[in-house]
Amino acid sequence: ATPTSIMVGTGRGAELGVLFRQGEALQLLKHTQAVAVDKTGTLTEGHPALTDLEVAEGFDRAQVLALTAAAESRSEHPIARAIVQAAEHEQLTVPALSDFASITGMGVRATALGQRVEVGADRFMHALGLDVARFAPTAARLGSEGKSPLYVAVDGQLAAIIAVADPIKPSTPGAIAALHALGLKVIMITGDNARTAQAIAARLGIDEVVAEVLPEGKVTTLQQLQATHGHVAFVGDGINDAPALAAADVGIAIGTGTDVAVEAADVVLMSGSLQGVPNAIALSKATMGNIR
Ligand code: ADP
Ligand code: MG
Repeated sequence: ATPTSIMVGTGRGAELGVLFRQGEALQLLKHTQAVAVDKTGTLTEGHPALTDLEVAEGFDRAQVLALTAAAESRSEHPIARAIVQAAEHEQLTVPALSDFASITGMGVRATALGQRVEVGADRFMHALGLDVARFAPTAARLGSEGKSPLYVAVDGQLAAIIAVADPIKPSTPGAIAALHALGLKVIMITGDNARTAQAIAARLGIDEVVAEVLPEGKVTTLQQLQATHGHVAFVGDGINDAPALAAADVGIAIGTGTDVAVEAADVVLMSGSLQGVPNAIALSKATMGNIR
């Protein structure tokens, strides 16, 4: 590509809210065969809200929510904010906590009112030796509704199943349609549970889903996708996404996401909308189309 065409393309990108941090990205994007996309904060708003809470026999709903909010009050995960806000909304007194620990890709643990509270994914409960089977019908329903089920254990006893739901960004469906119109496969990569991820993917017409991926597994997943699909661009917003953004053929960060993601990316979408991805690829094709 000539320096002039790159300059023109980069300038046009800026007008579209697409920032090319690497001039090379503009040249590489036209080779894209598949686009892998993080779910939370990229396809969705990244601001989940609590939708459901079902306690096990012998547990009090308000008490469990207050303990859960206490355990989550020091976590920075979007799920934590949803739970703390729900407790505030119900005007519960959130007890003080001690011994807080965050277990990446799993959940949190803390002590509140002298009780050990653990909150997280089903695999976290399994790791604690707890059987979540009694909540299986509820979990199946929540997942099929696109809600993310979580579990609460109090002093080593399964106390509740909770669900949070994160709205899809209004711009997401149109962006996926535009990627399909460009002949590209769209793949979701998420740490969330498989049923929830499938339900959201089905709603959006996403071609493939890789769910329950631990943060350190995102790069391996991406490499597997590159082996099957060829040139793969990755779109993400979180700290967890930085390694995959760096490993992708082109890493694309949502500009409203974390600084760590933006710094690991080749392209930044200033508007925060996924529509920037088909725009950038179309721009690459238009600018670089006649240059080998
Ligand atoms: P993602 O952002 O894609 O959900 P994470 O690796 O951050 O990926 O989290 C994976 C899963 O671990 C979450 O979907 C949730 O089930 C559980 N988890 C992580 N952090 C928390 C937390 N603070 N509270 C409850 N569950 C959590
Ligand atoms: Mg995210």
